[in-house]
Amino acid sequence: MNEFSFIDSIKPFQNLSCRVIKGIGDDAAVLELDAKRYQLLTTDMLVEGVHFLSNTPAKLVGHKALACNISDIAAMGGIPTFAVVSIGIPTGTGHIEFSHRVKGQENSMCPDYVSGIYKGIFACAKRFGVSIVGGDTVKADKLVINIALLGEVEKKNLVLRSGAKPGDHLFVSGPLGGTLKSGKHLNFTPRVKEARFLIEQFKPSAMMDISDGLAGDLGHILNASRVGAEIDEQRLPLNKGVSVDEALHGGEDFELLFSLSSPKSAKLVEYLRSHRCGHFVEIGRIIALPKKLYLCDGSGRRREIEPKGYTHF
Ligand code: ADP
Ligand code: MG
Repeated sequence: MNEFSFIDSIKPFQNLSCRVIKGIGDDAAVLELDAKRYQLLTTDMLVEGVHFLSNTPAKLVGHKALACNISDIAAMGGIPTFAVVSIGIPTGTGHIEFSHRVKGQENSMCPDYVSGIYKGIFACAKRFGVSIVGGDTVKADKLVINIALLGEVEKKNLVLRSGAKPGDHLFVSGPLGGTLKSGKHLNFTPRVKEARFLIEQFKPSAMMDISDGLAGDLGHILNASRVGAEIDEQRLPLNKGVSVDEALHGGEDFELLFSLSSPKSAKLVEYLRSHRCGHFVEIGRIIALPKKLYLCDGSGRRREIEPKGYTHF
């Protein structure tokens, strides 16, 4: 069983009330709020040794902990609002010595490191208009940070993973791959501004953020929308020194992946051309059948690729 079959196995037991518009299966849950708006709710957890290392600067850890949640709210078309922050701090259990542990007290976390994490969280919160309204503090074997974030979206502006249609064009909001090596996975900018621009001007048919690699995450859109897709290899925007394979199956890009109907796609391409703006790059298209993922080379040949990205287990 991997991460995603585990999540699927939970789905039948969600006990959804009539106020739940979308439960498990998108970047955030969608809940009734009022006549005009939906409430969005998402959560992400960072674990030392998995998502960051013991020598990662504390401020960046804090930034990432909140920014990856903000990225999920952006992917729904929403605006982030309120967050709670829970932190598990190693005190007295230390079986490993970390550089940021206090000298002479190797079993406990340096308080400066934890407050550094909060500096990162607060700076990110201020930048994106998020209020930190609570949380929980516990003892843990490893440093763990979990943030749950609320957001809001006008009902007419909600974008799910399930709306992609055959003939739609696929875009990403920036270059992909190599983010672990470059450190971009720690200090990325969640694409709230870009997502709001897209929603207001072009209303994508489907959207998500890329957190587990393009191929795997596009696979989620294809599953949810019951369609297939072709990606044009030569159009993929790559970070410096990154191979196509790394861009497809790498990890935490935190760029937007979205689909637009053919007329809207033409409008966006024209907008990008006339404004000399490289913010969004067309990478392929949605197909009806087969419901598979293909990579096309320059001469029009296509080969099937696994819609696989990073999985935790
Ligand atoms: P993302 O990468 O956008 O944060 P995930 O791949 O983590 O999304 O999760 C996919 C979906 O599964 C989301 O709707 C998320 O809320 C849900 N999910 C993930 N883990 C669990 C869990 N342990 N229990 C219930 N739902 C979960
Ligand atoms: Mg996501």
